[in-house]
Parts: sequence; C-alpha cells; structure tokens
Amino acid sequence: MALEEYKKLRDFEKTTEPKGGTKKGAGTIFVVHEHNATRLHYDLRLEMGGVLRSWAVPKEPPDTEGVKRLAIQTEDHPIEYADFEGSIPEGMYGAGTVRIWDKGRVTIEEEKDDELLFELAGRRLNGKYALIKTRFRGKESWLFFKRKS
Ligand code: MN
Repeated sequence: MALEEYKKLRDFEKTTEPKGGTKKGAGTIFVVHEHNATRLHYDLRLEMGGVLRSWAVPKEPPDTEGVKRLAIQTEDHPIEYADFEGSIPEGMYGAGTVRIWDKGRVTIEEEKDDELLFELAGRRLNGKYALIKTRFRGKESWLFFKRKS
C-alpha cells in the first residue's frame, strides 16, 4: 500500500530502480543517496514500518550540531532501494545518477506525526538526529538536524 505512489511514478521497463514490495529489512537501515538530477540533492531514507521513508535534502546533510537543513518528504521507497546505485534514464522520474553517500543503521527513538527523533550509525553521519515538521514550504517540509548527543 505504502509503495503505490513509488510505483505509479516509475516505468520499470525503463528504469533499473527496484520494483520492491517483497523483501523485508534485515534490521533498521538508513541510507543517504546523492542524487545528481535536475538539481543535486541528497535523499535521506529511514527504514520504518517495512519501507524506506524518504526526504529530499537540497544541501549536504549535517555531521555537526547547529546546522539545520530543509528536508522535503517524498514518497516511501522499497527497502531494496537502500542498495540502489545507478542511472535513471532521461525523461524518467528522477532522471540522473544516484549513488550511496552514506549508509548504516538507524534507531528510532521517538515517532510522532510532526517529530522524529533517531540515532544514526553510518560512515559520515553518526549520533542523534531529528526531523521536525515545519510550515516553511508546504506541508511536506521538515527540518533535519543533528541534536546534542
Ligand atoms: Mn531524489
């Protein structure tokens, strides 16, 4: 159900992105994709409820406290997407190149409609983080930042 939007946006005859829907996560994965599309951005994905909840972050994710990044929530992605790297063909949704910028484990500490507290253990991103909903740019806007450990 959660992946309907993901599937609707893609033509799996043309893109090598995973179709998804079957594989259960072995744990609690997080991944950050560097997505060189119309604009370079970073896609933060957290494994929650059997899917990767996803946010597009226009600037590099912070590895220190005191930097707040806008994060626009996008469609849930299948768990398999955590391993995806490659090119999405011209004309397709998200056309451009995708590579893994960071990957590791996420521990969800608190989950509310407008607030997510979690801890990341990755290569670049480590420590306590938050996603807090903001009205800054429409209803899908969140702020993403590192908290005091
Ligand atoms: Mn993207």
